[in-house]
Order: sequence, then C-alpha cells, then structure tokens
Amino acid sequence: MSTPGAGPRPGEAMHRFDAATADLAAQVLRRARERLQLDPVPLDAPRSPAELTAAAGQTITAAGLGGQAALDLFCDVLAPACLSTDHPRYLSFIPCAATEAATLFDLVVGASSVYGGSWLEGAGAVYAENQALRWIADLAGLPAGAGGVFVPGGTTGNLSALLAARSAVRAREGHRRPLKVAAAATAHSSIASTCDVLDLQVVPVPVDARTGRLTGAALTAALGTDRSDLAAVVATAGSTNLGTVDDIASVADYCHAPDTAGTPPTWLHVDGAYGGAGLAAPTVRHLFTGTERADSFIVDPHKWLFAPFDSCALLYRDPATARAAHTQRASYLDVLTERGEWDPADYAIGLTRRARGLPFWFSLAAHGADAYTAAVERTLQVARAAAAMVAGRAELQLVREPDLSVVAFFRRGWATADYTAWSERLLAEQFAFVVPSAHEGRTCLRLAIVNPRTGEDDIAAVLDTLR
Ligand SMILES: *Cc1c(COP(=O)(O)O)cnc(C)c1O
Repeated sequence: MSTPGAGPRPGEAMHRFDAATADLAAQVLRRARERLQLDPVPLDAPRSPAELTAAAGQTITAAGLGGQAALDLFCDVLAPACLSTDHPRYLSFIPCAATEAATLFDLVVGASSVYGGSWLEGAGAVYAENQALRWIADLAGLPAGAGGVFVPGGTTGNLSALLAARSAVRAREGHRRPLKVAAAATAHSSIASTCDVLDLQVVPVPVDARTGRLTGAALTAALGTDRSDLAAVVATAGSTNLGTVDDIASVADYCHAPDTAGTPPTWLHVDGAYGGAGLAAPTVRHLFTGTERADSFIVDPHKWLFAPFDSCALLYRDPATARAAHTQRASYLDVLTERGEWDPADYAIGLTRRARGLPFWFSLAAHGADAYTAAVERTLQVARAAAAMVAGRAELQLVREPDLSVVAFFRRGWATADYTAWSERLLAEQFAFVVPSAHEGRTCLRLAIVNPRTGEDDIAAVLDTLR
C-alpha cells in the first residue's frame, strides 16, 4: 500500500482501485448486465484464426491496450466468435443454461479471492458447497456420511472417483496385477481416457438391444462371477448420446453378488454427469433406483442443473477412502493436513481450487429446490414433446424413446453429407446449432434439451427445416 496522496509505487499501479478502475468496473458490470438481459442471446459462430487475426490483431503489447479498449475488443470481436451455449436453439453436445442468479454470483465469487481447497482458508465457501453437495446426496439417497467436492467437470470427476476405486483395491491387496473397469460400450469417452491415465483396462459391456441399458445380467455374461480383476463398474445415469439410464439396481446387484473368488463388493461408480439432474424430477426419478448404492457419483451442475462452467459435483459414499487416495503430502501442507478438517482438495485430483460450487449453491439457496425440480421437469416436458413430434413426422425416425432429455433421430434418406450440410446451414443462418452424431454407425441428429428457455416452438421450427 502506498502513502495516501502519493502516486502508486512502481509495479503497484494495476492493483489500485483508482478512478480509471472505477470507470472500468462500471463498464464491466454494464457488459455483464446487458449480456444477461439479451432475449434471445445471439447464437454467434466461430471464426478462423486468420479472420480473428485480421479483426483482433495483436492484443498483447508492451504498453497495454487499456481496460476500455480490451473490453471493447472482447465484446465486439471475441465474444461474437464464441457460440452462446445458452441460446434456446443451441441443442448440440450438452448446452449450458445457467440461471441468472448463478451467473451473477459467479461475478461475486471472482471478486472474493476465496481459496476453496481447504477449510482453514475457505471455511465459509466450503460450508456452502457442502450443503449443495448434501442436497445432491439426498436426491441420490446416499448415506449421511457421504461427501465430496466440486471439480471442473465430469472427466475430472470420473478420474478422481476411479482413482479412489483403484486405491481401495490396492490398499487391500497391493499393486499385484493389472485391474479392469467394466462399463457400457456406450459409456462416455472420458471413462476410456481416464482409465488410460490410471492404467486400468476398460471392458466394454454390450447394452441391452431394446433399452440401450447396461444390466447386471450383461455384466455376468461378459465377465462371469469372478470379479477379482475389477477395480470398478461404471453405470451411466444418462448416456451423453441418447440420455439412456443404465439399469443401476441390477448393476449394483452384480457388484455386491457373492463371487466365486471371495472378492469383496466391487466399487460402483455412477456417472450422472449429464443425467444426474434427473434425480430432482419426480417423473423420471424411478430410473435412477440403485444410485443410493453407489460408492461414487458425479453430476455436472454445468450441464442440467443450471450452473455456469465449470462445475461437477463428485460424491463418495465413504469419503475416507477418497481422502486416502487423494490427500497430497508435503511439509508445507502439514499445517492443513494435521488439522483434520474437511479440505476439498483431499477428495479429487488437483490442489488449488476455485470455490466453483458457489454459483450453483447461491442459485439453489436463492430459488429453493422446488424451482430446480420445476425447471428440470420443464425440459423433460419439451423433450417428450420433441419425441412425439419426431415420431409424428414421416421423414424422421426416432432412435429410441428418450429416457431423459436427449432426443435422437434419423432423417430418412439422408447420407452423412446431407446432415453436415444441413447443420452448417442452420448455424450460418444463425437459426440453430445442431450437429450430427451417430448411433450404431449411422449418422443421426440429437437434440439435448437442458435449457428451460427452449420451447416446443423452437423444436418444431428446427424439425420444420428437415422436411
Ligand atoms: C459430459 C459427460 C462427461 C464429461 O464431463 P465434462 O464435464 O465434459 O468433463 C462424463 N460423463 C458423461 C455421461 C457426460 O455426459
């Protein structure tokens, strides 16, 4: 801090809240408010590196552009070169439709300089995050002792959970041999990539041909009753491509069945990164039966629970197992470790962490759980309407009746090039963002409906372009 009245010391100028900063604050807050008030938001589109070089030029200079100019550059050139994932007709991948409250509070989190890795440093934030985690644990039916941490995304969540599962086996029997992870052949790509990191061999298990679900019977058929090589079984609660919920109860039965080798129950990881939000919706809650028996569970609030990027809730039935796997040991950390408090960094890959569960917590605290149930149910209602519309149109063919809010279908008579051209045209016209996917090797379309602003009219308008 410098003497009152004196100018900033060299190197200190950027850290002062002076008149120019006050002006910048007003501009930044104005930009945030204007973006939130847009209805609808522009869909926008990517630009090539050459186009961006021409439009934005060199942004890092010795003297700096000045805050106002850098902000203008973002608002006028860079932001329009990013798709708005909350546009009502952004229906590809999994959109991100944060509530206004969650988005606004993200600004507050950013301004609060909270370290979310330890109780010592971030007790208040961790308390709030833990209440949000408890809400999810209660929906899932996990026991009172369950707990975890908000990590950046489902990939990190799956990695952290499977590392805990592997550690549990190694704690029992040492590093004796290669271990396997069984998952539906349709499980998310991150299961294969995280198993690669962990040197676990993925066993893809065929799903039921009619329902698309992984079942206990299929696990038995693929692996037999000797589970001694398994580090974990992954059940997907809402597959990314079709939104299918595995038969979690029979998968849990498989994990707990007496086994010919005398193996203790196998770790059950439930990947609800996308679909876990369905736990809050009474009309689909029954599909998730068995989740209460999970050893670990993830759901991404940045997918279908209306939080901004990046946020995955990772929960463990027995947090002590996860702590044993994840706690980093070092002389400079002993001061934390020895306190024995709830340190979020002990439950996942990563040490330093933003208190990224807070935007979700704030919105949930402000609006209450019932509003979440209503919002998830609304998207399910639109998804059901979408499926009915597809089924009623002769040129379209549903891949499967949706379990949740992903509706996938074929356009009869179309080759892959037709789908691609259609998708590119819709984006070029700033009408919708729907990219092709594939089911069993055949190109298809999928609409992922997680934005309560997406209405039946939006779906009808998109389907009309397929005539
Ligand atoms: C999206 C998704 C993931 C990966 O989550 P990220 O947040 O993108 O890392 C994992 N599993 C499922 C089922 C998903 O839908």
